[in-house]
Amino acid sequence: MFCYQCEQTVDCSGCTKIGVCGKKETTSTLQDLIIHVIKGTAFYYDLAISKGRYCSKLNKNIIDALFTTVTNVNFDDERLKEILSEALVKRARAKELAIEFGAEIKNEPECATFIPAYDMDGMVKQAEELSVPSRNKSLGEDVVCLQELLMFGLKGMASYAHHAMVLGQISDKTDEIYKYFAEALAFLATNPTDTNELLSFNLKCGEINLKVMEALDGANTGTYGHPEPTQVRVTPIKGKSILVSGHDLKDLEELLKQTEGKGINVYTHGEMLPCLAYPELKKYKHLVGNYGGAWQDQRKEFSKFPGAILMTTNCIQNPKGYANRIFTCGLVAWNGVEHIADRDFTPVINSALEAEGFLVDEPEKLITIGFAHNAVLGSAEKVIELVKAEKIKHFFLVGGCDGSKPGRNYYAEFAKAVPDDTVIMTLACGKYRFNKFDFGDIEGLPRLLDIGQCNDAYSAIKIAVALSEAFGVGVNELPLSMILSWYEQKAVCILLTLLHLGIKNVRLGPSLPAFITPNVLDILVENYNIMPITTAEEDIKAILG
Ligand code: SF4
Ligand code: SF4
Repeated sequence: MFCYQCEQTVDCSGCTKIGVCGKKETTSTLQDLIIHVIKGTAFYYDLAISKGRYCSKLNKNIIDALFTTVTNVNFDDERLKEILSEALVKRARAKELAIEFGAEIKNEPECATFIPAYDMDGMVKQAEELSVPSRNKSLGEDVVCLQELLMFGLKGMASYAHHAMVLGQISDKTDEIYKYFAEALAFLATNPTDTNELLSFNLKCGEINLKVMEALDGANTGTYGHPEPTQVRVTPIKGKSILVSGHDLKDLEELLKQTEGKGINVYTHGEMLPCLAYPELKKYKHLVGNYGGAWQDQRKEFSKFPGAILMTTNCIQNPKGYANRIFTCGLVAWNGVEHIADRDFTPVINSALEAEGFLVDEPEKLITIGFAHNAVLGSAEKVIELVKAEKIKHFFLVGGCDGSKPGRNYYAEFAKAVPDDTVIMTLACGKYRFNKFDFGDIEGLPRLLDIGQCNDAYSAIKIAVALSEAFGVGVNELPLSMILSWYEQKAVCILLTLLHLGIKNVRLGPSLPAFITPNVLDILVENYNIMPITTAEEDIKAILG
C-alpha cells in the first residue's frame, strides 16, 4: 500500500505497511480500486453530460465513492467490496448512458475497462501498479503531485457536496458542480501530464468548491436557521446519554426527534459542536451540550463516556474497548461496529438506556459559539467602527483541522499570545486547542469568534470578503492573517479555494503536505506566498511588526 493523503502519514512521507490511521493494506487497496473505477465512470459520464444528460444516481455514486476514501471514513473491507461492486455497475450504466445519448466512445482509458482481480492478492498487485511510487517512476513526482492534489481536493469537495445532498440542496449551481466532478475525474482518467493544465484544474477545483460550500451553507441555514451566538454547556449533567460525533446535521436532527421524551440527554462531540447554535437544532431541550474535544482525543474520551456513541461521518478511530456501544451511520464504517441503516436509531437509543449514564452533574462550564457569517455580519457596523477607532487592530483566522502531532500546540500558543486589541476567528476542530480560554471582549464584541465546522469555511470567506468591501481594499490588504492547520482532504479543497480567490500569505502547519514536491511548493510560494508556521512568537512578530 501507499498513502500520503493526510498530515499524519508516516515520516511525512507515506504509509506503506499500515496507515497511522489504522487503514490496513486490504482497505487501502479497495479504496484505491474504487477511485480507479470511478475515474472510468466519470470518463463515460462526462461524455453523457456533454450531450446534456445528467443522472442523479451517478452524481451520488461518484460523490459518495470519493467521500468513502477520505481519511478516517471507512475501515470496513466488506462494505468497501460492496461499494467497489456498485461502482462497476454504475460505470457500465454511465457507458450505456453516453451511448444512449449519442456520444462517440473512443480512446477509452484503462480505468474505463479495468476489472478488479478476483482475489485480494491480485487486487493488492493491481493497486501497487496504480500507486504513487509506481506513477512517480513513469510520470515524475511533480506530475503525480499535481494529480494527487486534484484528487485530494475532489475528495474533500465530495464530502461537502455529500452533506449538501443529504439536505436535498438543489440550486442552479448544482449541474455545474456535478459537471466539474465528472470533468475533473475524466481528466485524471487520462493520466494527464501537462503541469499547466493540471494546475488550472486544481484552481478550478477551488472555484467549484466555493460553490459547493455555498450550497452547503444554504442547505444548513435553510434547514436549521442561521447559527446565532449561543452559550453552550461543556460539562455533563446527570442522566442517560448519547454522544454524536462527525459532521452531519441531518443525522443529529433525526436522532433528536427519536430520543425526544425518552429521558436521554444528547451531547455533541468534535465538529458537531456548532450544531448547538442552529435554532432548529438547539430548540430540542435534551440537546444539552458538548462533551470532549477534537477527533484525535476520541479514544480516551469515548472510553469514559457512560452512554452510546454515534459517528455520523469521518474521523472515526479504532473503537477498541467501546465497540459494543458505538454505532456508525451514513458513509462512516468500522469493521465489527453496528451500522445504522435509514436513520433508524433504535439500537443507539437502546444502548444508551442500558448504559449507566452520568451519575452526577459536573459543575457548569459554558463557552460561546455561533459566530457564522450571518451573526458576524449582523454586527458589521460595530466591527467597522471598532477598526476605524483602532480598537481592533488586526483579525486572525486561526483554524482548521486538529490532530495528534505535538507541533499543534503552536495554535494554542498563537491564540494566547496575540495582543488584546486583536480578534481571533476560528473554525473546525483545531479550535479545541484554545476555545475554552477566556479571551474577553472589545467593547462587547467577543475576541474569540467561533465560526463553526470546517464545513463552514464558507462563512470565514464571506466575512473576509464583506470586510474587504467595507474598507474598499482587497482581502490581501485587510488587517487579516490566516493561520491554518490541515489534517486531511477537506483542508486541501479549502486551500484550493483560497488559491482560487488569490488569497496570499497563508501560514500552514503543523507540517507541509507530504504530497507537495519542492517544485510545486516553489510555485505556491512564488504566486501565493504560502509559508510554513514557525513559532507563535516569531510569526506574530512577522505579522504585526
Ligand atoms: S489516511 Fe493518512 S494515516 Fe491513513 S494511511 Fe493515508 S496517509 Fe496514512
Ligand atoms: S476539521 Fe478536519 S480533522 Fe477536524 S473533524 Fe473535521 S474533518 Fe476531521
